[in-house]
Amino acid sequence: GLRPVRERVRFSPAPTGALHLGGARTALFNELVAHRDGGTFVVRFEDTDAERADASLEPGILEDLAWLGLRWDEGADVGGPYGPYRQSERVAVYRKALDGLIADGAVYRCFCTEEILASDRAEDAAEGRAPRYRGSCRTLPSEQAEDRAGSGEAFCWRFAVPPGETLIVDDAVHGPVRFDTADIGDFVLARSDGAVLYDLACAVDDAAMAITLVIRGDDHISNTPRQLLLLRALGSPAPRYAHVPLVMGADGRPLSKSRGAESLASLRAHGFLAAAVVNHLALLGWSDPAGREVMTHDELAAAFGLGRVSGASPAHDPARLRWLNKRHMAALSPEQRAATVLPFLPALPGVDGPTAARLIAGDVEVAGEAAALVAGIASAPPADEEATVALASASARAALQTALQALAETGDPEAVRVAFKEAGLPAKEAMPAVRAALTGRAHGLPLATVIELLGVDGSCERIRRALA
Ligand code: GLU
Repeated sequence: GLRPVRERVRFSPAPTGALHLGGARTALFNELVAHRDGGTFVVRFEDTDAERADASLEPGILEDLAWLGLRWDEGADVGGPYGPYRQSERVAVYRKALDGLIADGAVYRCFCTEEILASDRAEDAAEGRAPRYRGSCRTLPSEQAEDRAGSGEAFCWRFAVPPGETLIVDDAVHGPVRFDTADIGDFVLARSDGAVLYDLACAVDDAAMAITLVIRGDDHISNTPRQLLLLRALGSPAPRYAHVPLVMGADGRPLSKSRGAESLASLRAHGFLAAAVVNHLALLGWSDPAGREVMTHDELAAAFGLGRVSGASPAHDPARLRWLNKRHMAALSPEQRAATVLPFLPALPGVDGPTAARLIAGDVEVAGEAAALVAGIASAPPADEEATVALASASARAALQTALQALAETGDPEAVRVAFKEAGLPAKEAMPAVRAALTGRAHGLPLATVIELLGVDGSCERIRRALA
């Protein structure tokens, strides 16, 4: 058979915000491709934009990736043979590449001021054109350009885009995407202060780190022709590309850091299981050929392929994440489930944390909701509307008396249900009434669990108070 391709892939976040579901999905797709066939997963920080990059965000991003259970083989924290893996530490590499492009005449100095460029952009906008550099400085004789630079005039380096070419990106998700170089303005590679811009850093790094396949968000597809031109000018082989459609939020707009998209950290804080989040991320745009929905990380790695990534934008559906979390909770052993719930459980009088966690774990869909589930235990809040209705039902009083008697006689929480049956009380009315007496809520944890949490004496006391 065919030997699997051992891809070298990379996730290259800019440290400009916390990791959100969209970014995490891109990271996961990379990791799944790498680890299915013994490839290599690289994590690289793209912090060339000194104004926006914030190094203090890096550890959090790595922590989130690690929490998801993603393993990377090379990266800023673990090092590797192609390091450093932080672009701010690679300036010399970019400078060397730029010097090569200068020597080859592939770039030129541009002296256009910000005012000129802004007025050109305004003109483009007014005429409904995409903004594009006019190329005014491209034809400056080089002695003249050198003189102006020598006399201290500010300039940037622009790449001279060859006219009249069609570039075809054979995208693994979208198929062939064509770009005419006529539509690509000569773009800036380095500012006058020598600072290198993203396209050059990205292209140089993808080549230097021997990346074979670039999997990134759709929002980067328009960068790809520029990066391909750069790679060709540098004499470097181009990787293949897969641009994955951006994940949409409930408002139909892409999730983004700037719009406060739900961060991985907040999902973690709400007690979602990493396994469920990974499962959810994988299904954002990909589907299992065997039609499974609930899958482990290993199952995903075995089944994943870019061929089944949809070209249409997936929507993040919080209800599906909850559902998957419930399923992954159910797959845990009772001990594991209790351990997941315990950190989210407030202290309860009369019952120790591990016991309470064990008692309720089977009813918890998302660990972070444990506190809400036991809200009425520590001290019963006043009956809410539903609880008031339940306590006013025809059989409520009989239900409370029956429960009280059964508990007093047997000391067994399970005896209540049996007693209802023997007394001919409909469980649909009796259970909510007793629960309301115990917790101020008609719905919630199973009655026997509530009684165990409160203890038989505590439960009897609350029922007596409700009867009084
Ligand atoms: N640094 C880019 C971002 O955070 C990723 C670019 C890429 O993957 O090539 O969106």
